[in-house]
Amino acid sequence: MLQSVTELTRNTAQLIYPDTCLICDSHEGTHRHGFCTGCHLAVTTDPFPVCPWCAQTVGPHTNTSTGCAECSGRSLGFTGAVRLGPYDGKLREAVLRMKVLTGEGLADLLGRTFAECRGTNLATSAIDVVAPIPLHWLRKWLRGYNQAESVARELAMGLKVPFEPHLLRRVRHTTQHVQVSRTARLENIKGAFRVRSGARLLGQTVLLVDDVLTTGSTASEAARVLRAQGADRVVVAVLARR
Ligand SMILES: [Zn+2]
Ligand SMILES: [Zn+2]
Repeated sequence: MLQSVTELTRNTAQLIYPDTCLICDSHEGTHRHGFCTGCHLAVTTDPFPVCPWCAQTVGPHTNTSTGCAECSGRSLGFTGAVRLGPYDGKLREAVLRMKVLTGEGLADLLGRTFAECRGTNLATSAIDVVAPIPLHWLRKWLRGYNQAESVARELAMGLKVPFEPHLLRRVRHTTQHVQVSRTARLENIKGAFRVRSGARLLGQTVLLVDDVLTTGSTASEAARVLRAQGADRVVVAVLARR
């Protein structure tokens, strides 16, 4: 069932965007998987060194053994973060395009690309289960789909690890203000998630997937809830780090 739905989405994307790049609409040199050569290169190349704890860009000689300037000394609920790239340029364009229903084919494609580019890296974390950061049902209904869920599904398939789309549930609608402080964000997100009843997380390593990581407050709170239910480790995978 899951397989056929994914296949259907893929085919629909091909129908809607015949031979055009899903990011820039170019017809030129379209990559066989829906990206033109330029966009494919842009989203698969992360030009910067990255902090392994929070996936933030760091300087070329930064010692990240205990974190970077952004995360050192903070108690992140997760034990590491992996990104496809920085929230910039083509990747930023792609992430913004995903946020409407017609972006679902693009979300699937970015998920597959993520698995291709970072699969080997993620495999070292011995992931037991892949789950998305859920949207509140109202936001999901308004958007038509949860982009993090599409990316997570493709990542799970690529890693050959079980996918649990409903492992977490968003029980509270939270306001989205990008500009507020980290403390305000943390306060806003507290108690927003619940783990699915009956989930067996004891000793498990969970790969938690989202489209963008900004302050890390949302991922931190989701990870904290998973660990309170027995998960041993939570690794975060995001398409783009802001
Ligand atoms: Zn393109
Ligand atoms: Zn860091």
